[in-house]
Amino acid sequence: MAISSSNDDDKQTLSHVTYPAQSIDWLTRLIGFDTVSRHSNLALIEDVQAYCEQLGLSVDLTFNEAKNKANLFVTVPAGANANEVNRGLVLSGHTDVVPVDGQEWASEPFTATIRGDKLYGRGACDMKGFIACALTLLPQAAKLSKSGQLHRPLHLALSFDEEVGCLGAPLMLADLQERGIAPDYCIVGEPTNMTMVVAHKGIAVYRCRVHGKSAHSSLTKQGVNAISYASRLVGYVDTLAEEISHRNDNDALFDVPYSTLSVGTIQGGTATNIVPNLCEFTFDYRNLPHMTQDDILAPIQAKIAELNAQMQARAADTGIELLQMEAVPAMTDNDSAELQALIAALTKDDKRHKVAYATEGGQFTNAGIPTIICGPGSIEQAHKADEYVELSEMVRCDEFLQKLLKSCAVS
Ligand SMILES: [Zn+2]
Repeated sequence: MAISSSNDDDKQTLSHVTYPAQSIDWLTRLIGFDTVSRHSNLALIEDVQAYCEQLGLSVDLTFNEAKNKANLFVTVPAGANANEVNRGLVLSGHTDVVPVDGQEWASEPFTATIRGDKLYGRGACDMKGFIACALTLLPQAAKLSKSGQLHRPLHLALSFDEEVGCLGAPLMLADLQERGIAPDYCIVGEPTNMTMVVAHKGIAVYRCRVHGKSAHSSLTKQGVNAISYASRLVGYVDTLAEEISHRNDNDALFDVPYSTLSVGTIQGGTATNIVPNLCEFTFDYRNLPHMTQDDILAPIQAKIAELNAQMQARAADTGIELLQMEAVPAMTDNDSAELQALIAALTKDDKRHKVAYATEGGQFTNAGIPTIICGPGSIEQAHKADEYVELSEMVRCDEFLQKLLKSCAVS
């Protein structure tokens, strides 16, 4: 598909809807790459790289170990002020999408399809819609840069493996630090209906393996019951969750205003007449930004140490193993007041939201880059069959990015 980079005002009309041709073209093109997290994203990355290089911009790639996935970071330099070159504003998005297995779609998920005032396809809102708008903005930004009218560099950061635990972005952030690039702000374009999300909870997922000792159920003293010890720990997780929910430092801007803990799966035992030697369960917790993940983990570890001592007093080689499966840090709003004010002024909407789902935003704030989330479409449609973005949301995102670019340019 031809992507015009010169005609910024190009608009097309479909039935009763006027939509921004370039960002819709880009979204169509991006959805066409099947970038489900288990696949390579290199075809998409190479396509974007070629586009950036055509605009005279050089890109920086960071790869996973297998070299079949890459993050892309591209900078539109601020020509007016060489000192500013390593700072600037980052527009950030993940290139991977969740699978469509077992979902009933009305149209092919990797072929963008417009029906009525919506564009359907996997990744339409989460989050190729935002990336499409950001790519559409690049030619104009490059032009301002060349004529020396950009006073703040604009960066585009595209990551891999966000949907499987935000594994890609840390490699890119480490690379930026190594290269001395310290952006002033970051906007993560996850779907928020173009409202401003200033903070989100962190998430940590654990698998807990309780190793006991088998015995005949008539000889309980000779065994160590893995299910019994697992249930004590499960009970403790619930007690801790209850206690945390009553703390007085909760944050009412979140739907659930406290950190949560929840046990999700459990397996154990082989027969009623055998004292079980193994029980496994998983749990997760979602911490408010002002609580660190260790704040929640530390009492659980203390409880495990207590139970381990009891188990090992009865039989050596028993005990509880705790394996971290996933951890994504919370995104804090501690340092983003200036960025929030800028976004509120541009969108003429000063409402601030906080959400329970995790994004790469926490990794950006942990790296010292004040970050907010703002992007087209709704999280309600993310990960579902017939995922879509409303065309009007793409228009709003294009307009927002236009204003943002203007704020980075010399007037
Ligand atoms: Zn997403």
